[in-house]
Amino acid sequence: MTVSANVQEKLSRLGIRHELDLILHLPIRYEDETHLFPIADAPPGQTVQVEGVIVHNEVVVRPRRQLVCQVEDNSGILVMRFLNFYGSQIKTYAVGKRVRLLGEIRHGFFGAEMVHPKCRIVREGESLADTMTPIYPTTAGLTQKTLGKLIEQVLQDAHTVQTLTETLPEKIISTYRLAGLRDSIMCLHNPPPEVSIEALQARTHPAWRRIKFDELLAQQLSMRLHYRQRRSHSAPVLAQKNTLTKPFLEQLAFKLTAAQIKVAAEISHDLAAAHPMQRLLQGDVGSGKTIVAALAALQAIENGFQAAIMAPTEILAEQHFQKLSAWFEPLGIGVAWLSGSQKKKHKQTILNDIALGTAQLAVGTHALFQEQVLFHQLGLAIIDEQHRFGVHQRLALRMKGAQSNLVPHQLMMSATPIPRTLSMSYFADLDVSVIDELPPGRAPIVTKLIADDRRSEIIARIQYACQQGKQVYWVCPLIEESDTLQLQTAMETYENLCQVFPDLNVGLVHGRLPTQEKTEVMALFKQGDIQLLVATTVIEVGVDVPNASLMVIENAERMGLSQLHQLRGRVGRGSEASICILLYQKPLSDIARKRLRIIFEHTDGFEIARQDLNLRGPGEFLGARQSGVPMLRFADLEQDGELLTAAQTTADEMLNDYPDLAQRHIERWLGDKTEYLRV
Ligand code: ADP
Ligand code: MG
Repeated sequence: MTVSANVQEKLSRLGIRHELDLILHLPIRYEDETHLFPIADAPPGQTVQVEGVIVHNEVVVRPRRQLVCQVEDNSGILVMRFLNFYGSQIKTYAVGKRVRLLGEIRHGFFGAEMVHPKCRIVREGESLADTMTPIYPTTAGLTQKTLGKLIEQVLQDAHTVQTLTETLPEKIISTYRLAGLRDSIMCLHNPPPEVSIEALQARTHPAWRRIKFDELLAQQLSMRLHYRQRRSHSAPVLAQKNTLTKPFLEQLAFKLTAAQIKVAAEISHDLAAAHPMQRLLQGDVGSGKTIVAALAALQAIENGFQAAIMAPTEILAEQHFQKLSAWFEPLGIGVAWLSGSQKKKHKQTILNDIALGTAQLAVGTHALFQEQVLFHQLGLAIIDEQHRFGVHQRLALRMKGAQSNLVPHQLMMSATPIPRTLSMSYFADLDVSVIDELPPGRAPIVTKLIADDRRSEIIARIQYACQQGKQVYWVCPLIEESDTLQLQTAMETYENLCQVFPDLNVGLVHGRLPTQEKTEVMALFKQGDIQLLVATTVIEVGVDVPNASLMVIENAERMGLSQLHQLRGRVGRGSEASICILLYQKPLSDIARKRLRIIFEHTDGFEIARQDLNLRGPGEFLGARQSGVPMLRFADLEQDGELLTAAQTTADEMLNDYPDLAQRHIERWLGDKTEYLRV
């Protein structure tokens, strides 16, 4: 099909590049021009079509200039009103002309009226539309008419029949009672009058069900295919030997929870296989993922391989390093720490340790996956807070050196719980383990919402907590647009609080602080020498200081749900009852109010995540993943859970039994968009 460059540009703005894109550009709503209502009987408050003859035509100037016509049919009279109109319209809508109007009838002072109806001149007895009129999502400069015509043209094209040949095996179609693809597409573009507009609009109609199924299936197929491809590589077999894990567990001050034992067993089982593990470990804040990671690392080291743990912030990486070296060094394991800010000479020593294998565990930030980092033999890469890393960064952490034909096992950890439907869809290329309980004895966190103009009330609370030997976080607002501004607020708050609390030790930590100082401040806070820590959101992830039991978060209304949940998770880590105070600035936007209510009412991260998904859609959860995964346009994870399960089962069946159809299905739906997660 040929279109002008101008139209082409508009189309590409709608993401339409191929004929198939046009075919799949589905209406957002419909207008029903398939029948006429008598004026007197037309139901108010919904879009209706009426027809009549113009009996009066007048330009009124008060209260403002407008064109007012009266239209009459056998049943009654209706006023149509145009507030903006062309001079030519006065003539077009002359007395005696027959018009068909589409719009909403309102009953005003002058009786029934329609403001700015869709209006066209018709002959008496002119036939009605035999299908509903589709209204498409469009863009400035591209009219419904042009777009509708283009789509109609493609649909009528004989070629389209071929484009839309069935990719689903008969068996699947009958098992799930799916409508035919071509029929579904035709029906959605041009629904016959007997179809329920409600079912179309709610996207519950069988035609929609088919489209959504196909879309979900394409996503599943493509992700499972990549899963299988990665699985076809060889990985070191890291058997469970218990030579290190056992003594480690024996000296631990507490017992693992049942959930920790379960996920540790899943991971251990994966590591012992000859293909690379690709597992995502999910667990709420404070559920104890670090120990599970440590056990996995020990299993690699038991087998003579190295392990690496990568964290997104220096503070978190440093904390992992301290914790893990305290655990591992008594077992005779060399632990190395690598960060971007280390001095060159020092760094070289560490790089040597990693390359020679004397460091059996390497802990670090992004610095770990730079070119010059060569492992002796890396068996396992652990990525904490995986959503912070891009696909490419994760992939760069691969085995180098002697055994480069082996791909290391990968364990990704996420403290932002991912709702089940989301992990079934966008994370379908991974195996998932979930820690679904917290260690025993955690006192619940009490959340309080306090308007900013009452901030003086919390001063006394802080004073009291510190007198009791407790410690306090004060988190400064996140201002996305400007790091500098955020820094400035943090500094001002710090100075301010120093004055308010002359007898407390107040500390300040933010992202721009040199590593050395950051480490010192965090160490002082950990030891209890700093009582009140003013921080930017750098402390959001992972920081673990159990004695801190009060947190104040400023401008909480600006933060996202998962961020609030993460921040709040910094308290409530000991056995003391903890309090999290959310300070907010009035007035609250609608969405901010919703968010604050959710965080106030819930402490379970999975429930918060589920509500967050409803509020914002999946984009926010995917983080850097978003660019690598086929996104869903039609299916709705909340509404279409049942179809998702069906698509999941079908994907495996098709990849096993109908690989050619599977390939065609992927190509149809994802085409050149399959540029994607590569390992
Ligand atoms: P997260 O899952 O958020 O990374 P951490 O691994 O930092 O959680 O663990 C949070 C805290 O709980 C740490 O202080 C850790 O030592 C402690 N912890 C972990 N597992 C247990 C357990 N089974 N019993 C008691 N405390 C535990
Ligand atoms: Mg953690």
